[in-house]
Amino acid sequence: MAAPIAPPPVIQLDGIHKVYDSGETTVQALRGVDLTVRRGEFVAIMGASGSGKSTLMNILGCLDTPTQGRYLLDGQRVDGLSRNALADLRNQKLGFVFQGFNLLARTSALQNVELPLLYDRTRGRPDPKALAKAALQRVGLADRLDHYPSQLSGGQQQRVAIARALVTEPTLLLADEPTGNLDSRTAIEVMVLFQALNRQGITLVLVTHELDIAQYATRVIDVRDGRIRRDAPVLGPHSASDDLVALDAESPDSLLDNPMVGAAGESRPEAVT
Ligand code: ADP
Ligand code: MG
Repeated sequence: MAAPIAPPPVIQLDGIHKVYDSGETTVQALRGVDLTVRRGEFVAIMGASGSGKSTLMNILGCLDTPTQGRYLLDGQRVDGLSRNALADLRNQKLGFVFQGFNLLARTSALQNVELPLLYDRTRGRPDPKALAKAALQRVGLADRLDHYPSQLSGGQQQRVAIARALVTEPTLLLADEPTGNLDSRTAIEVMVLFQALNRQGITLVLVTHELDIAQYATRVIDVRDGRIRRDAPVLGPHSASDDLVALDAESPDSLLDNPMVGAAGESRPEAVT
C-alpha cells in the first residue's frame, strides 16, 4: 500500500533569524528557527516572556520580516516582498486574533467583522455584509450583530475578533495569547471554538503561557532564547467542550450563563457550524 500523503505545508521556516538593532543595543530575538506546519494542524507555541514568541508570530503573520532565513507561506516565498505585497498576502491568507481583541470601539460587531473585506484591494466581494453575518453566525453571535464592543462580554468580544479573522477565509489563523485577558471558563469557551474550527480544516497557530490551553492543540512547540527547544505532538489532546461540561457539573448555577452549552449540558453545535 502507498504511504499516506502528508497534507501540504502552510508554513515553512528555514534558518530564521531576527535581530533588533536600535543602534545602542542589539537583541537576537530569533536564532535559527526551522519549522514546518502542515494544513489542518493546530500548533501551540509556549515559552517564557521574552523568549521570542511574538517575534516569531509577527514574522509568520508577515507583519515583520526576518533578518536572515527563508519563509514560504502556502508555498509562496515571503521574504523580500514589498510592503504592499505583504499587506495583500496578509489579507488573502491570514487571520489574526490578539490578546486584547483589537476591536474598533465605536463600531458594531457586524461592521468590525466587515472591515477586512472592505480593505481587500485584490478581491472585490459582492456582499461583505452577508459574509460578515455568516462569520458571526459561525462563532455563535448571530444575535449580537448590532452590539458595540462595550456591550459585549470579554468572551463575546474575542468571538467577534475570531469572526473578523475568519471572514476572509484565511489559509492560516494566528492567535497571540487569545485567552490571556479571559477568565478560565471563558478561555475554555474560546478553545471550544478554536477546536471546532480546526476540525473544520482551519490551520491554527496559537501562542499561550498556559499548559492547560496548549493541551487543546495537536502539537506543542517550546521556544527558549529564540530557538525551538521542543516540538512534539500532543498525545490525546484535551476536548475543550468536555472540559466545559465537566466545569458546569461542578457548578451547575453557571449553566444558565454559558452561551456555548445548552441547558441539557450539551454543546450547541449551531454555534460553530
Ligand atoms: P515573547 O513574545 O516571547 O515575550 P518577544 O518576541 O516579544 O518575546 O521578544 C523577544 C526578545 O526581543 C525580547 O528580548 C524583547 O525584549 C526583544 N524585542 C521584541 N521586540 C523588539 C523591538 N521592537 N525592538 C527591540 N527589541 C525587541
Ligand atoms: Mg509576546
